[in-house]
Amino acid sequence: MEPNEGIKLLRQLPTCLLFKPIGDPEFDVSTAFARQFGEIAVTNAFLQSLRFYDPITKEELTGSQHPFSIAEETLHLCQWVRIQTREQGIQFFLESSVVTFNDVSWVVINAKAVQNNLFIPPEESSPVGKHIAFNGLLATLSSQLINAANDKVDDLIDGVLGAFGEFCDLDRCYLFKFYDNAQFATNTHEWVAAGVLPYKDDLQALPMDTMPYLDRKLKQEGLFKVNNVAYLPTEAKGEREEFERERICSILCVSIELDNGIFGFIGCDITGIPYTWRDHDIKYLQRIAQMLANTLQNAHNERALHDAQQQLINANSKLAKLANIDGLTGIANRRLFDNTLQADIDKSLTSNTPLSLLLIDVDNFKAYNDYYGHVAGDSALIQVAEILKKTCVGNDDVVARYGGEEFVVILPYTDTDTAIQVAERIRKSIEQAAIPFELSSYGKRLTISLGVSTMLHCHPISPNELIERADTALYLAKSLGRNRVDVWEPAKPLETDVNT
Ligand code: GH3
Ligand code: MG
Ligand code: MG
Repeated sequence: MEPNEGIKLLRQLPTCLLFKPIGDPEFDVSTAFARQFGEIAVTNAFLQSLRFYDPITKEELTGSQHPFSIAEETLHLCQWVRIQTREQGIQFFLESSVVTFNDVSWVVINAKAVQNNLFIPPEESSPVGKHIAFNGLLATLSSQLINAANDKVDDLIDGVLGAFGEFCDLDRCYLFKFYDNAQFATNTHEWVAAGVLPYKDDLQALPMDTMPYLDRKLKQEGLFKVNNVAYLPTEAKGEREEFERERICSILCVSIELDNGIFGFIGCDITGIPYTWRDHDIKYLQRIAQMLANTLQNAHNERALHDAQQQLINANSKLAKLANIDGLTGIANRRLFDNTLQADIDKSLTSNTPLSLLLIDVDNFKAYNDYYGHVAGDSALIQVAEILKKTCVGNDDVVARYGGEEFVVILPYTDTDTAIQVAERIRKSIEQAAIPFELSSYGKRLTISLGVSTMLHCHPISPNELIERADTALYLAKSLGRNRVDVWEPAKPLETDVNT
């Protein structure tokens, strides 16, 4: 008998068979086998699309692991294999034998489809054994989830979907999150069995009104169960089109409820042959949903707590800032200046650098107020503060309102000569701002006087002493005509008459 005749004969047999002459590279299948996958006849395209997977490890069986290699090597294959086309996968129990007709020896593999796709390992095949195994799985998963840090939750959810999918031998298992008042849903996590096409990327921002039947079932009953997509009611036209596109035969979804309402849903698909969901399948999925709800609720609570803490921190830091800001001018106030000066002096001493202080007083401001009124006086002070801020651009400079019409500037790491230059720049800036002051003898504009004092690291002094020295220098500037900068200098010792 020629191989072609053998192929013809074996193809026609009314059982699911895969076969090939021993030693041939190509195998063939019976029409009954192709029909399991919805094919009318055996075609080359169908034959080439077939892939074999280990249902436990999900690894593809190729080379010496290929069922035909094992069948030829051992002459008797006997194992569970998931056979996958590009569109669907079905689990089979494969058993091989060798048949010889007219001098041609054939390896013939009989493939028995698992009718309920939920594969139960033999040692757990009794419902009680299955429930015990499921409870064990649940305990392991929930102990991982219970203390999950927020940044690990996504990985753990992926792990839960994978463990559940593998345990129940599902094709796809996923989590959808609702948003915008549950009007939209997004697929956030997805697990697929070996060879099954993932659809997560396609299923983002789905308007739920395109799937009104699924939407109503989930929101009203918390459960969406379809044993056979082909028998969905007419109102579920949108759902049916989508499920057929994804080659889904059976689908089961359970809503996830949090304290503040529905979060989304968890679901699973069977592709290939339809499956009738049993009560315990639903219970299993509901328990997984409840476990995820607890985790998501914890994550939500933790985020809410964190947000509340952050708001408190922000409010406190706003308050702290307000406590250090001068109400009229918006620059630092006396309190901040007092708190900063000692720290800046300490930094100068440890870094062996000088520190200078400028004490600034608006000239004849009483007369300004008397002439223009107190409100105009206020706005003149605001302008002076603005100019001071703009002119002192050093990162560490502190510009503060010392009180009344007096301002102070701390210049860390600054020696006397540089401090005088800064002071001169400030004085000129105020002059150039030309704030009108009819009574001023300096071009009818507002002016300021400045006193400079410097602490050298080799001669540490207290904050009060530094301020007093700047005040002395300021007094000198006032007495020498105003609109000028003067520097504190140590009093010269009284000259003694060498002749007496
Ligand atoms: P000198 O050149 O010697 O400093 O003369 P002066 O008139 O500026 O000095 P004096 O200390 O006599 O007057 C300071 C004035 O500053 C008196 C006060 O009314 C005015 N002043 C202090 N704080 C404020 C304020 O917040 N707003 C207004 N508009 N004026 C203020
Ligand atoms: Mg004054
Ligand atoms: Mg003054």
